[in-house]
Amino acid sequence: MRIAIGQVLHETNTFSRERTDEAAFRRQEWCEGAEIIAAHIGVRDCLGGMLAEARESGLELVPTLAVSAEPSGIIAAAAWEKIKGQMLDSLREAGPYDAVCLSLHGAGIAEGCDDIEGDLLRSIRAAIGPNVPIVATLDLHANMTDEMVRYADLLLGVHFYPHSDEYDRGREAIRRLCELVAGHISPKMQLVRLPLMIPTSTTLFGPAQRVNEICWEWESRPGVLDCTFFHGFPYTDAPDVAVTVLATADGDEVLARQAACEVADAIWSMRDEFFITYPTPSEGLKEALAQAATPVIINETSDNPGAGAPGDGTHLLAEMLAANVPLTCFCHICDPEVVEAAHRAGVGAHIEVKLGGKTDELHGKPLPVSARVKLLTDGVFTQTSPMWSGKSVDLGRTARLTVGNVDVIVTSIKSQLLDDELLKLHGIDMYRCRVIGIKSSQHFRGFFQSKVPAIITVDSPGISTFDICTVFDYKRIARPIYPLDPVVSREAEIVD
Ligand SMILES: [Zn+2]
Repeated sequence: MRIAIGQVLHETNTFSRERTDEAAFRRQEWCEGAEIIAAHIGVRDCLGGMLAEARESGLELVPTLAVSAEPSGIIAAAAWEKIKGQMLDSLREAGPYDAVCLSLHGAGIAEGCDDIEGDLLRSIRAAIGPNVPIVATLDLHANMTDEMVRYADLLLGVHFYPHSDEYDRGREAIRRLCELVAGHISPKMQLVRLPLMIPTSTTLFGPAQRVNEICWEWESRPGVLDCTFFHGFPYTDAPDVAVTVLATADGDEVLARQAACEVADAIWSMRDEFFITYPTPSEGLKEALAQAATPVIINETSDNPGAGAPGDGTHLLAEMLAANVPLTCFCHICDPEVVEAAHRAGVGAHIEVKLGGKTDELHGKPLPVSARVKLLTDGVFTQTSPMWSGKSVDLGRTARLTVGNVDVIVTSIKSQLLDDELLKLHGIDMYRCRVIGIKSSQHFRGFFQSKVPAIITVDSPGISTFDICTVFDYKRIARPIYPLDPVVSREAEIVD
């Protein structure tokens, strides 16, 4: 059996000022043909799972195109046309094959295209005809659309946040695809949209974990192939932003509909639990310094590069520098200008710089600092986080600066912190730190949750804040939607 595989990943934050052009994709990933296999074999992501399952099953894979960019602003129209065109060209050249298996995100938006995944699936379907099955994996933060469901045979969403099951979903996609090609299953998908948006919510505990347990209870029933709670991506202003449930049953639309509706009812009944008010950076730092057991992680959820935020925000860093407590560390802030100054000055030199706050004022002002250059690196390391373990990361040149008593790691390329590899790269043992300030909402928990005695989430103005009601001026989102509108019934769901 021959299977064409590919990947298009982008989580678009339309509130971001960074336009996502072709260079942004090339900076993170732009692999063609066999390069895809070299980049993903052994990596704990969706494509890595697809490759492992296909190899063990003796399937022939035809790699097409795999692109991804760090979450950021709207995708330039030219970049999207190029990606879509190249994917269609490589599928045309790859033929004939028995099926198409794709790793997609589900919250990608380009100029003039509110739903790049729906657009891609429709274009592929038009090119390959109705008889070649298309299976795709999707991120838990997908803003699901009817278009995606219409043009794919089966869509499998990631269940966990941190997304530690991407690899398993990739394997499952290949297994289901083989059953589909053999005619052993006939997946019927039903999508239920809730008039609800939620901030970034982990599935390790709390309401999202309880919803997952309801999904798995449904998945254990005969005939139910999959039941997924898609959280949606709220940091974007587009008509399809919403929490959805996608249930799939074997040849049974009624059963799939029943599963999706019952899970949607459960989410609706616990909707208020998703909205948490977190302490400010100042309050959170006080709380952290009062803890006896260390290290304490403070995660600044409002400037999470993994949700499209700039990663150069200074609200938490300013508090940590002002406190100036020994054994505290900030890992990390993106500021290529400061990295350049540190590399020019060299190890051991003192530099006077304005650190961070260069994207906008919302995430905090630049901080005038007098720093000692402690260490310089190339910013290249291999990830060990449960999500994407084995992936090679390149954050461009970096610097470890000492500002008073505080160690600050500065990178040239933004990213959220997922494990302690970046600390180790800069000679810092996390277990000897008292407080570590980081930028991430939930993914960091995959590595750190079981290793540190306390995690304190702080929120401040930023484009990945929990305070979605006051920070964002939504204009295009479908209304009514909770919590922006006091919706009284889940029945406000948009039905086509
Ligand atoms: Zn996600």
